[in-house]
Amino acid sequence: MARPLLFLDVDGPLSPYAARPERRPEGYPTIRVPLESATGPDSGWPPLRRGPLRVWLHPGHGPALLALGYELCWATTWMSAANRWIGPVLGLPPLPFVDFGDSLLRERADGAHWKCEALVAYADGRPFAWVDDEQGDADHAHVAARHPAPALLHHVNPRIGLRNDDFTALAGFAASLAGRTGTV
Ligand SMILES: [Mg+2]
Repeated sequence: MARPLLFLDVDGPLSPYAARPERRPEGYPTIRVPLESATGPDSGWPPLRRGPLRVWLHPGHGPALLALGYELCWATTWMSAANRWIGPVLGLPPLPFVDFGDSLLRERADGAHWKCEALVAYADGRPFAWVDDEQGDADHAHVAARHPAPALLHHVNPRIGLRNDDFTALAGFAASLAGRTGTV
């Protein structure tokens, strides 16, 4: 059986942007992305993103994510730029990313997150976990109605970022899938 997918948001789970500026979380060095580089024509950077870019990242998150047994995939407005600016800081290899295309940041009438439909399409029936700070009830309904395999929509507080209990939950979901099929 293929490993489950782990759709990985950046802003919130990996970069706790909502932490108060004067209270940088312990263990998170500050990364400053040179915006002029990030927004160049070949950067893969979404054109809608603006403003000074201070990112807090925890170098321990990369190894912890790799140890979970998932196939990691960026699911973020950074899209391919995550491989340039985020992955190397965390010790992650280049990862595939979901290309949101025209659905990037576009509000939906049904209230589901703009990422939701693209993630379900990308998964194409494979079990997945989605780590993000913005899922809501409409996303659970959307996934339940359109995705026949197990899915874990795992919410992370953007003031805190990923912590041990999040990794425990993700490992537990992967283990539950292995138990279902009797294979790992
Ligand atoms: Mg986010």
